Amino acid sequence: IRCKNFKKEEIMKEIILIKNGELALKGQNRRGFEEILIKNIRRRIKPLGTVNIRAAQSTIYIEPADEGFDMDEAQNRIGKVFGIAAFTRAAVTEKNMECIKKTAAEYLADSLSAAKTFKVEAKRADKTFPFKSPEIARELGGYILSKFHHLKVDVHNPDITVTVEIRENGAYVHGDQIKGAGGMPVGTGGRAVILISGGIDSPVAAYTMAKRGIELVGVHFASPPYTGPRAEQKVRDLLTIVSQYSGRIPFFIVPFTEIQLEIDEKCPEELFTVIMRRFMMKIAQIIAKKEDCKALITGESVGQVASQTMDAICCTDKVCEMPVFRPLIGNDKDEIITVSRKIGAFETSILPFEDCCTVFTPKHPRTKPRLDMIEKAEQALDIDGLIKRAVDGVRLEIIR
Ligand code: ATP
Ligand code: MG
Repeated sequence: IRCKNFKKEEIMKEIILIKNGELALKGQNRRGFEEILIKNIRRRIKPLGTVNIRAAQSTIYIEPADEGFDMDEAQNRIGKVFGIAAFTRAAVTEKNMECIKKTAAEYLADSLSAAKTFKVEAKRADKTFPFKSPEIARELGGYILSKFHHLKVDVHNPDITVTVEIRENGAYVHGDQIKGAGGMPVGTGGRAVILISGGIDSPVAAYTMAKRGIELVGVHFASPPYTGPRAEQKVRDLLTIVSQYSGRIPFFIVPFTEIQLEIDEKCPEELFTVIMRRFMMKIAQIIAKKEDCKALITGESVGQVASQTMDAICCTDKVCEMPVFRPLIGNDKDEIITVSRKIGAFETSILPFEDCCTVFTPKHPRTKPRLDMIEKAEQALDIDGLIKRAVDGVRLEIIR
């Protein structure tokens, strides 16, 4: 038995397993979804070093091939990949009871020390293994009790479940599953443009739709010199945070100063915001079409500010041919903040840099704008020319 002179380094090959039951996807599209998921996982963890990712026996195996591969960081990254409900970090060992026992006691030492109760579960896929599952569980359970005197067995509600899996290609030992990000693999739901500001809401809206498998394209309206490079950097930082979940985001920055100045000069002040938002939607749609996106996403929530009353939203939507997804529409601010904190965006969102929306905000915006009033006011503007110049001035970056 190679395991006799047990040395920690020798056996501590660790891998990550994602089993079919832990994928969030079901049904007939599953195969294609799994391919996209594996591609997304590969993109996220490739920067950490050489790694083998393969699907076999209804499991995705993630096997590091580098000495210094950072498994904690891999866990962190995989925990943000949508389409995974749960996953498992496991130690690989030889298919013999001595190795399995030593590996389990060593690999799970910290969790076993912290627990008061445990149970062992054995799964024997390789039927040539000479012990049956109940025997494996009994053997290993006895060994763990002999090494951790404080522990008791509790088969109904244990603090930790030690699992041994005897598979064709090796034996694996692991503790409890780790919760995944849930949702659907990004790319399975098509592409959409997220109108991203530097605020709290739009990054949460972006995250929420990416979670449903939608690939994101970012569009931001900047009004230099009224808005500065730091405001733009803030948006970039927010998209970088979102991209940990959504993957790569093409990011379009639209020059918006001329449009805002024109509206400010030529339209009634109380209609400024709605007219501005109609421009945003029109321009976002032009970019969306070029980028093969089929919908727009915003961070609006009904009643939050004057431009987010139902009447204002109706007037804004009149210029939209594409569906506009507003995933936060029924959420309270504190609910949105909870998600913002969870995804690590909040601290960045509350940095105090001017956004293009705050620069020209009217003192008394109309909460019940009427479409005929807006369309009449817009006649004072060279809408096509303004849009064309803004679109011509767009800058593209890739966020990853
Ligand atoms: P947020 O917290 O996302 O900034 P908000 O509560 O400030 O939202 P508004 O300023 O009315 O609300 O903006 C509503 C939505 O319009 C935003 O969630 C975002 O999707 C979009 N939006 C606002 N400003 C910009 C901008 N400068 N560039 C791109 N999109 C914007
Ligand atoms: Mg805002």
